[in-house]
Amino acid sequence: MKIKLNDNFKNVSESYLFSTINKKVSDYKKINPDAPIIRMGIGDVTLPLPKIVVDAMHNAVSEMGVIDTFKGYPPEWGYSFTKEAVLKYYKNYNVDLSLDDIFISDGAKTDVSNILDILGHNEVYITSPVYPVYIDSNTMNGNSIHILHGNKENRFSPLPVGLDNSAKVIYLCSPNNPTGASYTYNELKLWVEHAVSTGSLIIFDSAYEAFIEDKNIPHSIFEIEGARECAIEIGSLSKSCGFTGVRCGYTIIPANLEINKIWRRREATKFNGVSYVTQRAAEAALSPDGVKACQENIAYYKRNAKALAKCFDELGIFYTGGHNSPYIWLECPDGMKSWDFFDFLLTKANVIGTPGVGFGLEGYFRLTSFNTYENTLEAIERIKKVLGK
Ligand code: PLP
Repeated sequence: MKIKLNDNFKNVSESYLFSTINKKVSDYKKINPDAPIIRMGIGDVTLPLPKIVVDAMHNAVSEMGVIDTFKGYPPEWGYSFTKEAVLKYYKNYNVDLSLDDIFISDGAKTDVSNILDILGHNEVYITSPVYPVYIDSNTMNGNSIHILHGNKENRFSPLPVGLDNSAKVIYLCSPNNPTGASYTYNELKLWVEHAVSTGSLIIFDSAYEAFIEDKNIPHSIFEIEGARECAIEIGSLSKSCGFTGVRCGYTIIPANLEINKIWRRREATKFNGVSYVTQRAAEAALSPDGVKACQENIAYYKRNAKALAKCFDELGIFYTGGHNSPYIWLECPDGMKSWDFFDFLLTKANVIGTPGVGFGLEGYFRLTSFNTYENTLEAIERIKKVLGK
């Protein structure tokens, strides 16, 4: 072919992370077929949808089979009933939205990358380690990326310290994947102040907000004064309501910002909306009873996360997350590199996690809370044993 391609794709680093993990595990299993492997690297929810959500989907499917209630194309920006449900959900956090602020999406990944459609080539600031989609999608767009390094000293929550006064696009993810670290009100306030004073835009990914339990951690950037002038928020029902396979999220772009109108235009042109059945499921999940049911699943994962956190407290190993998050991000013991620690845990404890270098940082490791409680406890026992406790 002689057509021009987007050469920026050549600069996107290949991700061999999960394929390498799978290869290492299958090689190990060839030699040790009976090894009782426990997967603590799972990044997907494992508990089924709550009944209230399933019932809503069944009802919606039935409506689609009857001429009077059949629905064709949904509105590109979401049905009013779903937007109402998001609006009411945000009232739990004392955030007042208008329906025009809310766009219903098929998940956070889509919007967190598609948002670049409406932005020019800005200087982009991304905290690291973080969800790789921010870096990859900006690389695909040919943007100039600046990394804000998370480390032990800043507890993996970099602040706008030493940044110049230029207008920039800033990606924040709190609670963070993979570190589980979360910004407090005071820390997020610093980011909002920086963005307002420099004319910058914050893209705030709140995919894990439903795991927050500490009172000093905001669920939404719009809890911070001034955020409506400088921020958009990308939310997801994937981890909060078990929708990884159903696909629904929302993007909040304050209607007072010019980009609200441009995104509206973009969506009307390039997106045909989220299915009626899915939006009825989302409405149910975000209702007070739905939230209660979803929180029961989250409580299950959080019990696992806390057990893991306790284990590393006892072992005296530095970590972030474990609270307000399904993830534990730990420093590999004895200065081990993250793939060495992976091999160590696989072969000595038959426990699988994810090497931190796959998220951009050597010497760290991610464990998740999406396995069963029994397996989590068993993994903890084995980890303690091989780490000498
Ligand atoms: N944002 C973060 C930080 C994530 O970790 C993930 C998924 O793991 C997503 C967004 C994707 O969410 P969704 O399933 O809604 O596309």
